[in-house]
Amino acid sequence: MQLSPATAAVATAAGLTKIYGSDDTRVVALDAVSVEFRREQFTAIMGPSGSGKSTLMHCMAGLDTVSHGSARIGSTELGTLKDKELTRLRRERIGFVFQAFNLLPTLTALENITLPLSIAGRSADRSWLEHIVATVGLGARLDHRPNQLSGGQQQRVAVARALAARPEIVFADEPTGNLDSRAGAEVLGLLRGSVRELGHSVVMVTHDPLAASYADRVVFLADGRIVDELARPDADSVLERMKALDHAG
Ligand code: ADP
Ligand code: MG
Repeated sequence: MQLSPATAAVATAAGLTKIYGSDDTRVVALDAVSVEFRREQFTAIMGPSGSGKSTLMHCMAGLDTVSHGSARIGSTELGTLKDKELTRLRRERIGFVFQAFNLLPTLTALENITLPLSIAGRSADRSWLEHIVATVGLGARLDHRPNQLSGGQQQRVAVARALAARPEIVFADEPTGNLDSRAGAEVLGLLRGSVRELGHSVVMVTHDPLAASYADRVVFLADGRIVDELARPDADSVLERMKALDHAG
């Protein structure tokens, strides 16, 4: 059966279990998580600290290995890939945005945005790049280095960098965690716009119900399991689910 692109899963976890350590230090960070992330959707992942949110992102993005079960990007099973293939997949098919921006300090904003393409030996698609840069709204600051930019501007550069290679999916781990609410709103608007206007697929971890309200769907994790889900969230409904989880736990 041929799935239409809009409904096909762009990333899938199936019975994904991640165990750190052994014996006394054994931690089950993810306990048989099954979830699909759909194309052209903005999904938020929420849950208490230590519930496995970052671990899920890292396993799905091929930044960490899976103990049992599977993590797939499209139909590619990450566990079957050799190191080189995994590196290539991360470079070509996945974008990642970190809480701490992770820009290179000696490069300008524009050079940071195009760095992954340069490393891959690909030239940037001019019109696409212009489109992204316009959406990011950095204008004259493209020649600035990270330390000449505000936190919000740096994170917008990091989002543009994640989008530059047109990845199939962008993972963002607490992208607004280091930003004030106004800068955070700009980054969230940019992520949402990349889905609505550019057709990207975004999965974002956040603590913040307001941030989650930018998403199309919220998935709730607790103790390494998916415990709830909400479509078309608003901040109040997210907050209520979070409270319910706290009381259940
Ligand atoms: P969250 O992002 O929801 O705060 P994490 O995914 O970072 O949670 O962590 C989930 C659980 O796995 C926690 O108990 C954490 O201590 C543990 N954990 C995460 N990374 C490691 C690691 N590299 N080694 C050992 N334990 C880890
Ligand atoms: Mg985390």
